[in-house]
Amino acid sequence: MSLAAPTITSFRPPRRVLMGPGPSDVPARVLQAMAQPTVGHLDPEFGRMMEETKTLLRWAFQTQNALTFPVSAPGSVGMETCVVNLVEPGDTVIVCVNGVFGGRLAENVRRAGGTPVLVEDAWGAPVSPDKVEAAFREHPEARLFAFVHAETSTGAMSDAATLAKIARSHDALVIMDCVTSLGGVPVLIDEWGIDAAYSGSQKCLSSTPGLSPVTFGERAVAKLKARKTPVQSWFQDLNLVLGYWSGEGRRTYHHTAPVNPLYGLHESLVALAEEGLEASWARHRAMHELLRDGLETLGIDFVVEPAARLPQLNAVRIPEGVDDAGVRARLLADFGLEIGAGLGALAGKVWRIGVMGYGARVENINLCVAALRGCLKA
Ligand SMILES: *Cc1c(COP(=O)(O)O)cnc(C)c1O
Repeated sequence: MSLAAPTITSFRPPRRVLMGPGPSDVPARVLQAMAQPTVGHLDPEFGRMMEETKTLLRWAFQTQNALTFPVSAPGSVGMETCVVNLVEPGDTVIVCVNGVFGGRLAENVRRAGGTPVLVEDAWGAPVSPDKVEAAFREHPEARLFAFVHAETSTGAMSDAATLAKIARSHDALVIMDCVTSLGGVPVLIDEWGIDAAYSGSQKCLSSTPGLSPVTFGERAVAKLKARKTPVQSWFQDLNLVLGYWSGEGRRTYHHTAPVNPLYGLHESLVALAEEGLEASWARHRAMHELLRDGLETLGIDFVVEPAARLPQLNAVRIPEGVDDAGVRARLLADFGLEIGAGLGALAGKVWRIGVMGYGARVENINLCVAALRGCLKA
């Protein structure tokens, strides 16, 4: 190995408009917040910011759960945190699968030693409450239920309130993925009776990727405390993480929190608080409608029926004879615009256009429709 240093210079990312399934556009105020001086992660000022972040997250999740904080890792680790803490070897878990992320939930349950009972629905359809009810009747031993509120792989939104009610009537704890829903559509943790939920920093919150807000209610904490086996993951064991994230003044070292990304999350939540939850939900809906009207003039159809469509994730059919990868490459090269490809069963068949957080604004929608028009003509 030569001692001569590689001649690599600073990375200068290109400017992009991010309208894929995440990350979404990050506003300058969030990037500036992240460029502030790094402080120690046990500094009292940092602790004060952590407490504010927890308060803001409780509001965003609409919950009074004390155990609400951002996991120092992306949404996938939020998913794993919920599963490894609540699922014990031998547990039966009813898991809804109507896209990629439901499938990942099932895989997480399996790896935690649980037995997933799958409730499957078509990609693009919401979870069927009738099938969930039937699954509980067939598996009365199931005490856990997991589903994805907003399936980012298909653009379908499921009826979280109804699903949680069914699960609770069978005395099951409810785990909800709200990675893509939080901030974009109503997420009402306490009103719906959700016991544990995880989200992500880079979708409708418009912060940078790498943090996963989670919340756990009393029933979930009771199940955690009653475990007979230790949580298999040391890093994600909430019994240990808690000593770090809870209690001002008596925080003890668990891991080094990602200090600057947390400044960014804090700022994105302050921005959401300034706007208000209802205003943010209304903006996402209005921008979705603007995009839908524009795409209709191009003859582009949606995968999901109108009632279950997520405003923030628009899965649309690639018109007959159009080169999927070619169009996406052209959007990126000529317009600096990123949209998402299809995943899993929908790969090559759909585009996924994100209208998330700071990206949900008129100039983005107009750019997207105009750019697609240009590419489809060519
Ligand atoms: C993006 C996403 C995840 C995973 O989040 P990462 O930050 O990519 O790990 C999980 N669930 C859903 C529904 C998502 O959209």
